[in-house]
Amino acid sequence: MATNPAVKTTTKPLSKLKEEICDIGRRIYNKGFAAGNDGNISFRLGPNEVLCTPTMVSKGFMKPSDLCIVDMEGNQIAGERKRSSEILLHLTIMKERPDVNSVVHCHPPHATAFAVAREPIPQCVLPEVEVFLGDIPITKYETPGGQKFADTVKPYVKTANVLILANHGTVSFGETVEKAYWWTEILDAYCRILMLSRDLGRVTYLTKQETKELLDLKQKWGYSDPRLDKGMENCDICANDVFRSSWGNAGVTRKAFDAPPPMGADPQRAAAAPAAVAPPAIDYDVLVKAVTEQVCRELGIGAA
Ligand SMILES: [Zn+2]
Repeated sequence: MATNPAVKTTTKPLSKLKEEICDIGRRIYNKGFAAGNDGNISFRLGPNEVLCTPTMVSKGFMKPSDLCIVDMEGNQIAGERKRSSEILLHLTIMKERPDVNSVVHCHPPHATAFAVAREPIPQCVLPEVEVFLGDIPITKYETPGGQKFADTVKPYVKTANVLILANHGTVSFGETVEKAYWWTEILDAYCRILMLSRDLGRVTYLTKQETKELLDLKQKWGYSDPRLDKGMENCDICANDVFRSSWGNAGVTRKAFDAPPPMGADPQRAAAAPAAVAPPAIDYDVLVKAVTEQVCRELGIGAA
């Protein structure tokens, strides 16, 4: 096959990459994101070589010698164990995104609950989620395993780094195994916080101005966001505007969370449920700065 010049190959030794995949396997298993033998992880070694996890092995107990190598069509070219049955999902994402070297697929319970409920993920709630995740699409359901299932990610794969797979789980991707996994962990924590705060009786949304500040920060750091590309014009930014046109096709409707109030006309803080008491005064400038600095420290990137 033709070599895509945009694909960056790694200089890391194969043994180190295998250890990194086993390490992320332990993390997804220990977090409860991959019950039994669920989940799969891959890393692009070169233009036509992808390292991947085997089928029928717990991701919490993998050894480097368990891993397989496939070509970009999914044919196994190395490894004792049989490659993951979901490798076509990984390869489809890598073909669409030359910048992506690693894909992580698993079934984190809170994000998967949204996948089963077909409930869109509310936005404009947590600063770091706004900056690092953006809008999260839910794909159309297909029986897992084949190319038809893998193709369900295609409409979204260029505008998001983590997707929810209807009635199934999540898939996230990035330049390294660590970064590919990172989106999944942030998304599941966010889904859990949304469910807990809703159970407490109120989800408070950031105002349009507060969200715009976060998107400006995101742009300053070099992260793209479709909402910024659209100039936020005629866009009720807190209402999943980016992927809303796909909801009908995927059977997604808003039920568990109220629609955020329209933000264009009312600059006041918007609350989805009636507030019995005034929300606590939060200095969002201080909060955003603290949260983003901590995340950047952990990622090893400058926030200044
Ligand atoms: Zn799965």
